[in-house]
Amino acid sequence: MNTNEFDLENRILSSSYTGEDAEAENSLRPHTIDEYIGQEKAKELLKIYMGAAKLRGDNLDHVLLYGPPGLGKTTLSAIIAAEMGVNLRVTSGPAIEKQGDLAALLSNLGEGDVLFIDEIHRLSKSIEEILYPAMEDFALDIIIGQGPSARSIRLPLPRFTLIGATTRAGQLTTPLRDRFGVLLRLELYTPEELASIVSRSAGILDVPITSDGALEIASRSRGTPRIANRLLKRVRDFAQVRGNGKITLEIAQEALRMLEIDELGLDNTDRRMMETIIRYYDGGPVGLETLAATIGEEAVTLEDVYEPYLLQIGFISRTPRGRMVTRQGYGHLGMAYKPKSAPEDGEQITMDD
Ligand code: ADP
Repeated sequence: MNTNEFDLENRILSSSYTGEDAEAENSLRPHTIDEYIGQEKAKELLKIYMGAAKLRGDNLDHVLLYGPPGLGKTTLSAIIAAEMGVNLRVTSGPAIEKQGDLAALLSNLGEGDVLFIDEIHRLSKSIEEILYPAMEDFALDIIIGQGPSARSIRLPLPRFTLIGATTRAGQLTTPLRDRFGVLLRLELYTPEELASIVSRSAGILDVPITSDGALEIASRSRGTPRIANRLLKRVRDFAQVRGNGKITLEIAQEALRMLEIDELGLDNTDRRMMETIIRYYDGGPVGLETLAATIGEEAVTLEDVYEPYLLQIGFISRTPRGRMVTRQGYGHLGMAYKPKSAPEDGEQITMDD
């Protein structure tokens, strides 16, 4: 593990999976589609597709779920399997190293089962090729023998549903993407949706919480349920030690202040990212790779974990030449906004404009 990964693991606002999440997430995961809060569009479509598949007595078409980490892709695939009444097998792109690994997984599936492949964009090309006939014809093409006597045989597979999850749909090869019948994009959650998730999780954890306390945690969770649940647990600790165990607005504010998470959910790393663009690159644009090298982060981490929320709240913008900090971003940091080209009336624009 390099130091950057270490930072990420320790970063309370990281939407990536950490060891601590594993046990907690299982207990907090919703199990039915109605318990799954938010993502109304995706849920509505899924209900239709699942209903239709059930009526036909067929398997659900292959589904690609995409969106930033921690938004509920794994949770949703488990719900799909449960709603369809089939088994779920879970794996991930980097875990499948050889063609044989995938062939074994596929041939062990039962009729209608769901195979969930997380980080599907990280499958290697040769492994992807096994997936094409599997997804399209429910068949495994196996080469037997070598050289001139080699021949290919086709083994039938059960009609299964592949659910692929990715943080970056754009990185999927076209032949793979085209084989998914259903493409669903998960969106960042609204503070109100996250507040419902926080209240539900607090109920499971048996922590009393006021609705304004839940909303406070929710508004600082960057639109991400995984972060909301993690912050809830930190605030719970604080409430137990400093208060009477109940999470109120004041307790939530105090705890989050100590965690250095500001009222919009930004932490030191977000601020460092924006400050670096301003200080070293004059507000941008700066290329992602250059920025990553300056901060000492991986470019993919910036793109998948940090950037989606900063883009969503309009603090940075993406241009063909790289990332820029917006006027709102400057304002949030309390820095004077210096646009690249002078404004028409020649006046200096400041953050209070
Ligand atoms: P992803 O696979 O997209 O990284 P997960 O499915 O692992 O995300 O979700 C992370 C955690 O967030 C889950 O354990 C679950 O407790 C919570 N969660 C995600 N989506 C929802 C939701 N819609 N409603 C309630 N909790 C959710």
